[in-house]
Amino acid sequence: MCIEKLSGGYVPMCALCYDTLDREEDWYAAKDAMKEAGWKQVKIDGTCFDVCTECQQYDGTADGE
Ligand SMILES: [Zn+2]
Repeated sequence: MCIEKLSGGYVPMCALCYDTLDREEDWYAAKDAMKEAGWKQVKIDGTCFDVCTECQQYDGTADGE
């Protein structure tokens, strides 16, 4: 899910490691914060996921070690 809506704000959360960014007052601010932090949104089977910069390095092309 893209950007968790919690009581009182929106919190971007990485779909892979569950890292989060600071809570923002609205959805657009949260999206901006993601962009500034270098996070990406990826769509898999119609579902949108947020991925943090660290997890982008492990996007499935690496084979483990
Ligand atoms: Zn992550």
